[in-house]
Amino acid sequence: MTNSEEFSIPISEIFYSIQGEGILVGVPSIFIRVSYCNLRCKWCDTPYTSWQPESRRMTFEQIRETVDSFHCDHIVITGGEPFLYTDLPHLCQILEDHHITIETNATRYLRANADLISMSPKLSSSTPPGRWHDRHERTRLQVENIRRFLQYHNCQVKFVVDTPDDAEEIRSLIRTTPIPAEKVLLMPQARRPDEIRQRENWLIDLCKRDGYRYSPRLHIELWGNERGR
Ligand code: SF4
Repeated sequence: MTNSEEFSIPISEIFYSIQGEGILVGVPSIFIRVSYCNLRCKWCDTPYTSWQPESRRMTFEQIRETVDSFHCDHIVITGGEPFLYTDLPHLCQILEDHHITIETNATRYLRANADLISMSPKLSSSTPPGRWHDRHERTRLQVENIRRFLQYHNCQVKFVVDTPDDAEEIRSLIRTTPIPAEKVLLMPQARRPDEIRQRENWLIDLCKRDGYRYSPRLHIELWGNERGR
């Protein structure tokens, strides 16, 4: 495949912002957001990639040109779910002169050359009612893939925490996978600043008690759930 041929990953948006979550919070980054996801979290903050997916096809050349126009060293490939696409390793290859983070729900695995794999395994509190319930519940945790990512890549593991009841499920997954505690970050489920306020105090207490790192959601604090920021 050449750069001018049709690229097989559907792109939702490419924009320049700062990383709002995780160990690289605050770092100016180019976000390449792919569309489509194999899960349907009930509180998904990018429904335009999951519940109502939209996308356009971009050639390798167009992606590279767009990335170059921002003059930034850090790239975040996010979604949707980037690991749905077998061309993901090729995309990483084309952009290898950048620091690459891939954000994933960790239900699919491919060997992709990224500097940081940012996993976000989904807890049972993410499961929606209705026709997606069973499929989401069956798919949301693929422990073998979490283990593979941990074995072969530099990783962080971010849990979106909705209620205090999530704590036991997180402890159990960390113990049985196992996931090193220093790689674990907890962040509040939120699409608006007031939803962060509702959760941050007890979540910080949980981090202090269990020795996990708290992750802010800086983009939500600054811009709510506005797209492209
Ligand atoms: S895994 Fe991410 S993109 Fe997919 S439904 Fe859940 S929050 Fe949305």
